[in-house]
Amino acid sequence: MTASLDEAREVLRHTFGHAEFRGLQGAVIAEVLAGRSAMAVLPTGGGKSLCYQIPSLLRSGVGLVVSPLIALMTDQVAALAQAGVAAARLDSAVDPRDQDETWSQLAAGSLDLLYLSPERLMQPAMLERLARLPLALVAIDEAHCVSQWGHDFRPEYRMLGRLAEIFPEVPRLAVTATADARTRDDIRAELQLKEAAEFVASFARPELQLSAERKSGRGRKRVLELVTERPGRAGVIYAGSRDGVDELAADLRAVGVPALAYHAGLDKAVRAARLEEFLEAETGVMVATIAFGMGVDKPDVRFVIHADPPAAIEAYWQEIGRAGRDGEPAEGITLYSAADLSWALRRIESRDMEDEVKQVQTRKARQFYAMLNGTGCRAAAVRRYFGEEGVEACGQCDLCLAPPHAHDASLAAQKALSAVHRLGGRFGRGRLVDHLLGKTKEPSDFEAGLSTFGIGREFSPAGWRDLVEQLIFEGLLKEDPNDNRPLIGLGDAEAVRAVYRGERKVAVRQAPEPLDSATRSGRPRRKSRDAAPAVPPHDQPLFEALRAWRAAEAKRQHVPPYVIFHDRTLAEIAVRKPARLEALAAVSGVGQAKIDRYGAAVTDLVATFDS
Ligand code: ADP
Ligand code: ZN
Repeated sequence: MTASLDEAREVLRHTFGHAEFRGLQGAVIAEVLAGRSAMAVLPTGGGKSLCYQIPSLLRSGVGLVVSPLIALMTDQVAALAQAGVAAARLDSAVDPRDQDETWSQLAAGSLDLLYLSPERLMQPAMLERLARLPLALVAIDEAHCVSQWGHDFRPEYRMLGRLAEIFPEVPRLAVTATADARTRDDIRAELQLKEAAEFVASFARPELQLSAERKSGRGRKRVLELVTERPGRAGVIYAGSRDGVDELAADLRAVGVPALAYHAGLDKAVRAARLEEFLEAETGVMVATIAFGMGVDKPDVRFVIHADPPAAIEAYWQEIGRAGRDGEPAEGITLYSAADLSWALRRIESRDMEDEVKQVQTRKARQFYAMLNGTGCRAAAVRRYFGEEGVEACGQCDLCLAPPHAHDASLAAQKALSAVHRLGGRFGRGRLVDHLLGKTKEPSDFEAGLSTFGIGREFSPAGWRDLVEQLIFEGLLKEDPNDNRPLIGLGDAEAVRAVYRGERKVAVRQAPEPLDSATRSGRPRRKSRDAAPAVPPHDQPLFEALRAWRAAEAKRQHVPPYVIFHDRTLAEIAVRKPARLEALAAVSGVGQAKIDRYGAAVTDLVATFDS
């Protein structure tokens, strides 16, 4: 007899203590209870486990759960034991005697759930033994692992496709938190779930306020700032390396933040103790690598900060998703740089994977950084990425609250791209920028003869560097590591062509900084507080004339203007209007050498304005 959804609700209340099904849970459970296979994509924290746990309790036979990580299985089995559910796992870490015990329970029909790794499940001997037992269902957790379009492809998951033939009568349920449309199609194809109903929850997390910032350097200081601005709240900080985690935790403790470090390099007992401490505390910060998170279910995490960004939107959403599980407002803050992207791409490149998989992961990394560095609502970008349609702006992410002014830099982008093209990707950033400005030192005849040499004199070096970063984020340029002296080459050929043809616009958040030929760096002089004293309006014309004279003089001598006279000095001259050299000498900043060199020119200029 088929159990009803009402019975399922009873189990939900009695065994698990929850009043109502959440989101699509009820629908997924009803489908499986009816003996049909299904695929469910529910966000992190959406309650995926109950989708197979409850039917396993209600259907006769044991429910098999395939999971990629022993840690995950251990957590679930322990949690089920707490709820009074008979569950066990069979994996290499389980003591042989306990395994025997599990087999006796299975034979007696007293086990409700059995957790296995994919490779263990698919061993012929295992399949043979299991085939003799009544099975309630087969659940495939983290089903995106089956797809090379996903962000976490695991070849051993591929074997699971055979389950359809091995257990044709048993409903199979594939669940995952993160699968874009293409990955979902692939899961269905690989796991032979083409006919199965698909349940895809909205990826909206209205309680999360997202933001992202370009970091300068390693962003350490900024993390300290962000954390100390959020006292008395629990948070998770993700860093890319174990050393990074240890250092950041130490830095935080040094400024009085109770921070714990967590990564796979730590002793198991230490990790367990720290996890427990974090889970129990109301405040406190966990600084961790991605080793932290699986099965961590602390409801009141108020912020997740990425000191280093993850590699794809899938991982981003999962990690950020650990904030605000209680539904109360929480923040997801990401610090990122073009260097992080380049590092992520190098890592993908260096992995032992099929080229096709590398290409997918590379594209995912680029899409993620395009979101980080983009100009539109972040939450909407993520939801669209996961295939949601008709998504509206969240109204609360940093970009919704302060929409950046998008500035069209397509023309500049074309110049940079064609310069890279002409230079054949043989130079790094610095040389590329010099080339655009036409200030390469001793350029070869080849380089000086290129049509792109000096084509970009309108922007400062910093302006060009920013644009080059942006083009890297957009995949229009790419970095070749070249033993830590990265070379800049053209990125995606199709996209580059689209920019050349004007079909693709390049928008930047700020117009590139203009070149100021009056400064040595080419950067416009900063309007600092001790800038030139205000010159009264009626003295402005003389002041401007003095500046023009200075600029010409500087150019003639190939020196920066300020070594001739500071603005402050010119302003004083404009106000005092010294007619004679003695009077000029009284102006601060005018010494004898300057009198000798420029005295006549300046007093002559003043005389022409003396009315
Ligand atoms: P996921 O695997 O989807 O990230 P879990 O299955 O681990 O999520 O569930 C996340 C949390 O939500 C758990 O603490 C679980 O007890 C809780 N939960 C699941 N379903 C419900 C529900 N219907 N009502 C309230 N809490 C629920
Ligand atoms: Zn938004």
